Amino acid sequence: MLNFAVGPVMMEDEILKIGSKQIPYFRTEEFSNLMLENEKLLKQCVNAPISSRVIFLTASGTAAMEATVMNLFTNKDKVLVINGGSFGKRFKEICDTHYIESDEIKLNYCEALTKAHFAPFEDKNYTALLINVHETSTGVLYDMKLVKDFCQKNNLLLVVDAISSFLADPYDMSEYGANVTILSSQKAIALPPGMSYIIVDPKTQERIKNNKVKSIYFNFKDYLIDGERGQTPYTPAVSNLIQLNKKLQIITDRGINYEIKKVLKLAEDFRLRIKGLPLEIASSNPSNALTSLKPKGKMNAIQIFNHLKDYYGIFVVPNGGELAKVIFRVGHIGALTLEDNTKLIKVLNEMYERGIL
Ligand SMILES: *Cc1c(COP(=O)(O)O)cnc(C)c1O
Repeated sequence: MLNFAVGPVMMEDEILKIGSKQIPYFRTEEFSNLMLENEKLLKQCVNAPISSRVIFLTASGTAAMEATVMNLFTNKDKVLVINGGSFGKRFKEICDTHYIESDEIKLNYCEALTKAHFAPFEDKNYTALLINVHETSTGVLYDMKLVKDFCQKNNLLLVVDAISSFLADPYDMSEYGANVTILSSQKAIALPPGMSYIIVDPKTQERIKNNKVKSIYFNFKDYLIDGERGQTPYTPAVSNLIQLNKKLQIITDRGINYEIKKVLKLAEDFRLRIKGLPLEIASSNPSNALTSLKPKGKMNAIQIFNHLKDYYGIFVVPNGGELAKVIFRVGHIGALTLEDNTKLIKVLNEMYERGIL
């Protein structure tokens, strides 16, 4: 199997090995120490403001997005959502579901975010801005400098879902003025799915403490209290957190730029080598994490996805809804190599030569 998905992704052998071991009991000093180290290293990786904390939630990224909205906002708030695709739309739906008033900046698919998009939304008394820094459904990476300036000028809390961008593109919570950063285990950090990490600055911690949440499992107050001693209120995905510890040690030893450069190199290599094929790069300002491609030849996007899966055992990423036939995506994150790119390019060339692509 060769997997160019954006999550779950190919994992390194060292990480796979940990997953095959028996799971230790976790209410121990040893596990608490491992968790405190996980918190410290994650904060370091995103350059979190001093006294930030990490909430370790055993749930997928969408749950982390929803729990964040539930814990930070009430029906007295009004938030602004950047909606450039499925994940932006999801933030909007979460707000609607929880009766939190919201407006959206709606972008065309694969369109970059510009200063002009913000102009109609100045001085509107929003509490917060919600953004997926990399809109994974289209591959567009948003300009965080623009976002930061808008939030500072309008005094907004900045909530960033960096799930598919973390370790693929540079990300700096302090530099961007982000109050919250949401991450998940199955994207570029290349662990099994199941864990999310929500990094909250001191201002956000205050909001969490002063807010009443109608949920037991998703009540962040309890995670903050138990997290002080390196524990979680409920049984976490223990192996996943042991794998995280190993991965964070590897990342911080090599330096975070090593990871980002590796993804960048794979993305650049792939984008260069598809020239000559009837595949057009679809997104403006693409993230390094993936390349969205618009087929210009005989097969549409979903046919290409199916053909690669059925005849070659290669996964790329299809799109849902109205984009299903229009674009597909090729990921550059996880334990992939330049040789893996070569395999995919070879297959695509073969399909083109046979006159089917
Ligand atoms: C993958 C991803 C998520 C999480 O999706 P789940 O399927 O719930 O894990 C959230 N936001 C973005 C931007 C993503 O790429």
